[in-house]
Amino acid sequence: MDVTRLPRIFLALVLLVLLLSPSVVQAAAPFPRGPGFYYDLVKLGVLILSFICWVRLCAWVDTDAAELKLERVFWNGILLAGGVGGFLVIWIVGIFWVTIIVAWAAVCGPAYWYVTVRNRQAPEDDRILTPEHLTLIFTRWTTRAPSEPEDAKIEGVPVRFMSRSATGEAEESERVERLRESKGYQAALRLVWDAIQRRATDIHLEPTAKDMPVRFRIDGVMTTIEPLTRTMGDAIVNIFKVLCNLDITEKRKPQDGSFSAQVEDRLVEFRVATAGAVAGEKLVMRILDATAQLADLSQVGMTEDMQNQLCDLINHPHGLILVCGPTGSGKSTTLYACLHEIDRFSQNVITVENPVEYRLDGVTQIEVNPKQGKTFASELRSILRQDPDVILIGEIRDKETAEIACQAAQTGHLVFSTLHANDSVTAIARMIDLGTPPFMLSSALIAVLSQRLVRKLCRKCRKRVKPSEETLKKLKVDRDAVRHIYRAFDPEEDRPKHSDEEDGEELQVCEACGGTGYVKRTGIFDLLVITDKIRELIRENPNIPELRKAAAEGGQQTLFEDGARLVIDGETSIQELLRVCK
Ligand SMILES: [Zn+2]
Repeated sequence: MDVTRLPRIFLALVLLVLLLSPSVVQAAAPFPRGPGFYYDLVKLGVLILSFICWVRLCAWVDTDAAELKLERVFWNGILLAGGVGGFLVIWIVGIFWVTIIVAWAAVCGPAYWYVTVRNRQAPEDDRILTPEHLTLIFTRWTTRAPSEPEDAKIEGVPVRFMSRSATGEAEESERVERLRESKGYQAALRLVWDAIQRRATDIHLEPTAKDMPVRFRIDGVMTTIEPLTRTMGDAIVNIFKVLCNLDITEKRKPQDGSFSAQVEDRLVEFRVATAGAVAGEKLVMRILDATAQLADLSQVGMTEDMQNQLCDLINHPHGLILVCGPTGSGKSTTLYACLHEIDRFSQNVITVENPVEYRLDGVTQIEVNPKQGKTFASELRSILRQDPDVILIGEIRDKETAEIACQAAQTGHLVFSTLHANDSVTAIARMIDLGTPPFMLSSALIAVLSQRLVRKLCRKCRKRVKPSEETLKKLKVDRDAVRHIYRAFDPEEDRPKHSDEEDGEELQVCEACGGTGYVKRTGIFDLLVITDKIRELIRENPNIPELRKAAAEGGQQTLFEDGARLVIDGETSIQELLRVCK
């Protein structure tokens, strides 16, 4: 029997008893009859309210237990017993205000027991009745302030667009005020809110002849969502262009700009780029959540050993530390995490970035602007005159910047930078390809960190599988050590085959991950510390196979080897690791 039906059956029984009992009471004669109201309406109300609460609680426990794969029948049974017992006590004993409390206790006790058990099983952000959870509820209640923006009230979307003033400060200008009435404004708000709720970092609007497909980049992977109609899509592109103060009559030449939005209680920045494509004007928008918490080294996903190794390197008085990987592999996050380890108040820390993505206290941040002739190289030369101790260079992509970085590292500065390279050994080759003299690089470089971001499996819907022989071989473990690993939920494969549930329930997507099977990302790393031997190789004979050999002898792990621990721990899937390391 379906356990979820039990409370409903009980409800029917209670109603039956309530309907029948007046005649029973009448039969049990010597009772003073009056005109109506044989029940105390207040007590009856409280009883019915309690009953509804109990049914809702049972329903919640049932779905929650199913989601967390807990003993559904056991917990349903206990709650049912508590409820039935409680109501029986009220029925039989009859001192209403005392027994109702007893009944509540009979239900709340098991419920509290269930909560403690389910919290152990649930992911951290899904635990309930914890101090964090209670504060969240409290702030949600108290911050429903009347100052909520007008348009948010209308549409239930807590997003308010703000334009840029001449000084670069975000403000709500007349331009936005006028825009509010135009076609597509509400749709634009909804699009932005939807993207933020799905944790998207980019929004792509790429028109075709008939409609406007919309794609979000979520956890580094492009995801197609509901398309817009072509007219609505064009209207939304126009709204964003006006917000960025771009020329709306120009639909072919590439343009770029930025605007801000107040999203709930934080300020989010949007960088917009438009360009003419065959079918019309396309738009790409990057979402920069400036209030997003900056990670420190313990949060980027490194093993403790590697953190310690890196901390030692960061405390060098001088030298060049490179972080490499493709675009969007989390290089800047790691660099900021490194700066986090440095005492920014006793040392002069200067960054040169394009663009400045996060504001850091105690750090001078300079933004390069090639259009105005402010390049990495020119800005670096000027900051070297400002007596810095630590310099962070957003990216090395030309000979001049590479040379200045090396010179600065040799003359008593600690220099951090990123480089577009596949792994730490090819990063060395890339620096030399850019034109850096090998002798200069060999004396400046102290370490190269290479990294990727892998998506973490959704804990609510990941599936346990037996690893194949091939997988075990790849992970370099034997069967006894790793009995099972996990893979992402696959809507095709995991659809229940002989389900007696209704069709609607089969198609339900996991709420925790939106059906993607993954939630958030973590880093995998390979750290190459430049030893004397490697230093000599760089100076004398910088070729990749020799360097790789020397690195492996020094105990360096590849990205895949570092990522294997996440597969073994069930944090990610082997498919995801292979995708990222290919
Ligand atoms: Zn999921």
